[in-house]
Amino acid sequence: MTSGISRRVLLAGALGSGLLSAARSSEREICGVRFRALGHGKGAPRRYLVIHGDEDTARDVLMAHLGSGNGSGLVVTGKTRHVTVRGLQLDPNRMYSRAGAEASLRKLNPEAGERQILGTLAWLDRRREKLLRALTPDKGSRLFALHNNRDYSIQDELAASDQVALNEPDKPRHFFLCTDTRDFAILKGSPYNVVLQTKAEPDDGSMSRLAARRGFRYINLECAIGDFEGQLARAKWLETHLG
Ligand SMILES: [Zn+2]
Repeated sequence: MTSGISRRVLLAGALGSGLLSAARSSEREICGVRFRALGHGKGAPRRYLVIHGDEDTARDVLMAHLGSGNGSGLVVTGKTRHVTVRGLQLDPNRMYSRAGAEASLRKLNPEAGERQILGTLAWLDRRREKLLRALTPDKGSRLFALHNNRDYSIQDELAASDQVALNEPDKPRHFFLCTDTRDFAILKGSPYNVVLQTKAEPDDGSMSRLAARRGFRYINLECAIGDFEGQLARAKWLETHLG
């Protein structure tokens, strides 16, 4: 009998150096969040990210996939969606700006006092740039983030999107989100769903808004939790077709 885990390990091994990347990893804390840092040596321009700890499939896919990629990655080590920063709950995928962090802190900690909220925001302000530097790809390269969803789909992103290619209407929970029109032009020719979001506002603290403000290429791959093969296939398509 082959368990899910051992099948994934075998698959990762078959992809090359995925396990080697994991073995070369080290842990670091940035902005109060613990990450496993996966490296591919100096000069590797791409950046990879798994930011939500409860998205195991995305984590497994990146660990398998990074072996064939040319870059370095951060994978959150916790197992929960939200992180605890100075005693408060925070969605780490909203911490890329002060406005986003503030909205997330207020939503998730309705009982917190004003002083604690403002103190935590100031604490994050002093550390945020370090996180953003670690995630910003080299000029012309890209950041690739992997997420999983349980009750979220491409339908939730249509209003915020400039363009949409619904190539797999029967799989709305599987889609790419990109911020560069050239990447969209390539991805819309894939067999997969993709949306383009180029606007920096409103600033909700998300990575797509940050990428638009700072002018780097960002691609997010959303897939239903549990579909390891489906997410890996899409990650590999992207790696093969995008520079
Ligand atoms: Zn996520």
